[in-house]
Amino acid sequence: MKIILSAVIAMLLAGASCAQPKKEKFTVQKTDAEWKKQLTAEQFDVTRKAGTESAFTGKYWDDHEKGIYKCVCCGQVLFSSGTKFESGTGWPSFYQPLVKQNVLENNDNSFGMGRTEVRCSRCGAHLGHVFDDGPKPTGLRYCMNSASLDFVKN
Ligand SMILES: [Zn+2]
Repeated sequence: MKIILSAVIAMLLAGASCAQPKKEKFTVQKTDAEWKKQLTAEQFDVTRKAGTESAFTGKYWDDHEKGIYKCVCCGQVLFSSGTKFESGTGWPSFYQPLVKQNVLENNDNSFGMGRTEVRCSRCGAHLGHVFDDGPKPTGLRYCMNSASLDFVKN
């Protein structure tokens, strides 16, 4: 009886693991309920549901202070004010991340647009998109949501 039971359990476990969608592993993982406690409604929508704040409404698109922009969810350092530039888009824009490994770039074909999504590598927060029409020296434009960032003055 015991042997049959463990066989059934093993089968169930095998079935369950096959049915599980492939999940990305991040150092910081929280449930939606936990994120909602920590974030404002807009921060949650942008970072956890890949939303986009309206242009010219965020805290940082017109911010010119010197400092570091961190992930609003987990505090990982993402961008420096030294690489921020005037993109005219109404979103804070940078030509490169502070540490390349701190951001993940994934193809995003939502809305029929072939864009590259940028996420925090530590907690998976959606930050914005990167485009190849930026200024020198990289030619890249990291178009970020203010709602995904937390600015710390130098
Ligand atoms: Zn993060």
